[in-house]
Amino acid sequence: MAMTDNTATGPEAAHGRPAVDFDAIVIGAGFGGVRMMYEFQKRGITAKLFEAGSNVGGTWYWNRYPGARTDSESWVYVLTFLEEIDMGWKWKERFPTQPEVEQYFNRVVDHLDLRKDMEFNTRVTAAHRDETNNIWKVTTSKGSTYTCTFLITATGPLATPLKPPFPGLNSFKGEWYVTGLWPKHKVDFAGKRVAVIGTGATSVQMVPLIAHTAKSLTVFQRTPSCVLPARNHPLTDHQQAELQRDCLNMFQRVRTSVFGMDFQDPRYRFTDLKSDSEAQRVLEYGWETGGFRFIFQTFADMLTNKECNDLAAEFIRSKIRSIVKDQETAELLCPYYPVLAKRPPLGHYYYEAFNRDNVKLVDIKNNPIKEITPTGLRTGTTEYEFDMIIYALGFDAITGTLAQIDLRGSQGQDLGKQLHERMATAYGIMVENFPNLFMMTGPQSPFANIPVVVDQTADWIGRTILYMRDHGHARMDTKKETADTWREKVNAVFNATVLPQGAKDTNSWFVGANVEGKPIEPLLWLGGVGPYVQECEREINNDFPGFRFSSSSQLENGQSSTGTTTSDGTRESRL
Ligand code: NAP
Repeated sequence: MAMTDNTATGPEAAHGRPAVDFDAIVIGAGFGGVRMMYEFQKRGITAKLFEAGSNVGGTWYWNRYPGARTDSESWVYVLTFLEEIDMGWKWKERFPTQPEVEQYFNRVVDHLDLRKDMEFNTRVTAAHRDETNNIWKVTTSKGSTYTCTFLITATGPLATPLKPPFPGLNSFKGEWYVTGLWPKHKVDFAGKRVAVIGTGATSVQMVPLIAHTAKSLTVFQRTPSCVLPARNHPLTDHQQAELQRDCLNMFQRVRTSVFGMDFQDPRYRFTDLKSDSEAQRVLEYGWETGGFRFIFQTFADMLTNKECNDLAAEFIRSKIRSIVKDQETAELLCPYYPVLAKRPPLGHYYYEAFNRDNVKLVDIKNNPIKEITPTGLRTGTTEYEFDMIIYALGFDAITGTLAQIDLRGSQGQDLGKQLHERMATAYGIMVENFPNLFMMTGPQSPFANIPVVVDQTADWIGRTILYMRDHGHARMDTKKETADTWREKVNAVFNATVLPQGAKDTNSWFVGANVEGKPIEPLLWLGGVGPYVQECEREINNDFPGFRFSSSSQLENGQSSTGTTTSDGTRESRL
């Protein structure tokens, strides 16, 4: 491992091994990549980051559609290491907009001087394991190849937009856009007949905004979302001062929380309530408080008690019926599945938009889109004319982006294929057959506020690499049983909720059900950030019982990754 010395005179060269270009290569400049680069800089590990876009931001670079803003409250949507750098950043609103988050990214990267080690407009197309030399060979879209000891995928959980699958797509003569690849130029809706296909979190954010200027807006819905009111508001100076004062405590709270957000504990267990009116009062409180607090600050057992979840779902339906004037439209908007079986979007007057004369909802569950035509689209029964079509169809989540890279392991295994055949990872971070590969927000990592998750993962990877250096380890592998056990835990936690059947039935992306042929199983750990942190810490504190290490000399002697663990959990040799 070169560790800031990547010349041929570095320690690797002394062992007759080739020097690497970088200790580590990071793929992607979203939250995960930026946080990882800071970790490497802090720890004196040389690193290079490649990013397909022309700037930092990841999700917040690509998803610049109108209305895009976070669903996490701004005060927890930060890289919590900022406690160390006092950047003086102040968010303007409870849920910041895409431009503000993009600005935040640029401020962080410039403040920390991370840009010098980032190459933009450069997609990593392949990363192959060279077992002989214990390195990764990384190829980019520019045709360059670089070597590194550690490879970090920070490709983001929702980074591969689904392509519109409709026949005749390119025949359309008007404007059309895919939300996850939104252009940088201003898109003008004024006076236009606009179609939005899809009603997930992305569409829910766009619809109320487009409605203001479009001549007409037609929303094509297959499955209705469970839209929770965001109740966004500007942050006053007083609120900001309080947040600033409390931020260190808050960062600590989110690390031990369930979803990486600073929520109060749920008020009740459903089973403890004595009457329906009491339950309604609790749900009303959640609805008024806004955002995900409806789920996480109301009933502790909303995700595990069917009766409780059913009541919450009915409560939401009653709200839709009371907001939307036209009862036929209201009924079409009503979700009939467990709350959180599909990731609930936060609405900024979404349901209210359907009360406008220029907004119309069309059901395509029972009458699907047959084709895109030069002038619009056609369902089984009706022909529609539009000036603009917007596809908000979602993403091939988590594994989809990994599978797009030609990522080959020790024996040439294909990462995407391996995960497709058997989703088993060590804590969402490492995979069998892929030594020295670390994933940020990988499959089976926590379903939680992303900045908090990547903060934990980057810290873990940084400490792990230093541990390797301190112990003379050159290679790290997960043990098969570690990944198998984690897979079992991830599945067990999910299966203990009321969500599995509903998630499958509603094409939920977090179980892979929105992509044809993708195995249906939880892509994320629902057991909470706090317990996840504990699991990862246990590995570090106990000298990594779940992993195998090999030293350079072992590798040279052909003893590739033969380190074993004794029954008491300590390794036989310190290598
Ligand atoms: P999504 O939730 O997966 O929604 C995609 C929509 O497109 C669904 O309504 C889906 O219908 C529809 N659809 C897909 N293929 C279709 C087809 N062939 N024909 C007709 N309809 C089709 O995607 P998303 O809205 O982009 O959101 C994905 C995730 O991104 C969210 O759950 C969230 O985690 C994240 N996100 C976050 C934010 C934020 O935090 N601010 C904002 C936006 C997105 P079905 O449901 O019937 O499949």
